[in-house]
Amino acid sequence: MSNKLIFIMLDGLRYDAAVSQMGYMHHLVEYGKAARFKVRSELPSMSRPLYEVLLTGTPAWKNGITTNGTVRLSHEQSLFHLTKQNGLTNATASYYWVSELYNRAPFNPDTDRIQLHTDHPIQNGIFYWEDHYPDSHLFADAAFLLREVKPDFLYVHSMNIDDDGHRFTSDSAQYRNRVIAADVLLASVLPQWMEAGYQIIVTADHGMNSDGMHGGTTSADRDVPLFVCSSLVAPGVYEETVPQLQLAPLACRLLGIAPSEAMQPLTIMPPLSADL
Ligand SMILES: [Zn+2]
Repeated sequence: MSNKLIFIMLDGLRYDAAVSQMGYMHHLVEYGKAARFKVRSELPSMSRPLYEVLLTGTPAWKNGITTNGTVRLSHEQSLFHLTKQNGLTNATASYYWVSELYNRAPFNPDTDRIQLHTDHPIQNGIFYWEDHYPDSHLFADAAFLLREVKPDFLYVHSMNIDDDGHRFTSDSAQYRNRVIAADVLLASVLPQWMEAGYQIIVTADHGMNSDGMHGGTTSADRDVPLFVCSSLVAPGVYEETVPQLQLAPLACRLLGIAPSEAMQPLTIMPPLSADL
């Protein structure tokens, strides 16, 4: 079985919008190709703190990334550090804050937009810095990295859902339609990516509320989806809520590498299917 993993993080995608708007992802669920869970985000339900949560499996009080304005390198062991230490190849197509957390801070577009074959924790990265950088281009950046560096771990981070949520609120045709657009993008790439032997995670950092914001404690702010396509995770719909700190150790499990000491034990690992 392949240990390769593509981890797709759709910024600002709330749980109920994913459930109601993502037809392709639910096609995978209906035909036993994917598992769907509900994740409760860590707090504060802000972007940069939750990037660090997802990628290191540590809470904000411990890792110190407590605001979007906390611009410095992470002090924690991220999935990029761990994959590199284990001799795997990693890559990401992400918002520039990811580069600031693990490679270089502050971000300089002239030197940091494209980083290939580096000695930093992120070995290969293509970064954007406009929130309206089209998701279609972002997924093309990811496809380039797949083809050129053949990573064992690829992290793909889109921003248009969050951007439209801030402009129009979660209670808008624009927000819902942007979620559909992301689902269509997934429908265009996931068949090939799974055919190439990759396991797939699709999740979000935080949700979006009807004021066009996130950061608070409501279900709208905190509840996000998790889809997993892997022979290690039995397909179906899971009703229990998964703590967001489980995402990093889950990624380690799928990659076949040991989690960091700071990560929680993988308590929510779903039932293993017979072909483990
Ligand atoms: Zn946002």
